[in-house]
Amino acid sequence: MLRIAIQKSGRLYEDSVQLLKECGIDLRNVKDRLRTEADNFPLEVFFLRDDDIPQYVEDGVADIGIVGENVLFEKNKQAEIVEKLGFGKCRLAVAIPRGLEYGGVTSLQGKRIATSYPFLVNEFLKKNNVEAEIHEISGSVEIAPGIGLADVVADLVSSGSTLFMNGLKEVETILQSQSVLIKNNQLDAAQQQLLDKLLFRIRAVKKAKRTKYVLLNAPNEKLKEIIALLPGMKSPTVLPLAEQGWSSVHSVLSEDTFWDIIEQLKAAGAQGILVVPIEKMII
Ligand code: ATP
Ligand code: MG
Repeated sequence: MLRIAIQKSGRLYEDSVQLLKECGIDLRNVKDRLRTEADNFPLEVFFLRDDDIPQYVEDGVADIGIVGENVLFEKNKQAEIVEKLGFGKCRLAVAIPRGLEYGGVTSLQGKRIATSYPFLVNEFLKKNNVEAEIHEISGSVEIAPGIGLADVVADLVSSGSTLFMNGLKEVETILQSQSVLIKNNQLDAAQQQLLDKLLFRIRAVKKAKRTKYVLLNAPNEKLKEIIALLPGMKSPTVLPLAEQGWSSVHSVLSEDTFWDIIEQLKAAGAQGILVVPIEKMII
């Protein structure tokens, strides 16, 4: 049995449970529980505060965990990142009152910085040879300058709207973060095997999210040109349509090149282009 620690409630909860679900792992009665077992995979799930997850994984109380890099690096625990998961994206940023001039990191010299990330902020200051006073607070960091508790803040930002509403502007990025799957450093062979099985599924789900299945109709004389535009997993599937002289072409496209290629396909004479999501992708 593999034990995974995920956030009990908060910004990572939904995406973590959703990821497991997409990997075909059904969790029953997750509401208000501290632990549960999956029905159809040898997985036990612990629901914890995100701050505690790195420690649990380092200690081997949980074998693996899902946590933000911000928390993982702040806690500075021994746990290995096995996969970036692509959700919970944010950055740890320094923000100052909007009216203030900013002349680079040295402007932070001697300032009082409110943050929930004292370790990471301290590393950042050291790296930049700046001395400042760190005030650790556990939440609502953005109001600290307004109430006179600090001069500046270092806090997590995604859209920046919270900073804006509190009259702050972002001036430095300390860390770019997203959620990651971490593992204990001493998994035994059986646990590693289960992790590999889970990872195989996670990668298939991630890959599918970045890829679309495309179906289109094309006059046969345009086929060569159209096929040249389509990468496909091996090569596109081409099937004859009931209407003479026409074919249906099926392929997969990656999100990065998707819109470019669709435009080129249209220009090359493709018609009736359908784009459908892919659930899993195994290559
Ligand atoms: P817990 O009760 O588990 O300690 P929390 O209040 O510390 O929860 P949340 O606010 O739920 O944490 O955020 C969890 C994680 O979501 C963060 O550590 C970070 O990795 C990620 N995240 C993504 N965007 C943001 C954001 N704009 N602000 C805060 N966290 C964010
Ligand atoms: Mg927390």
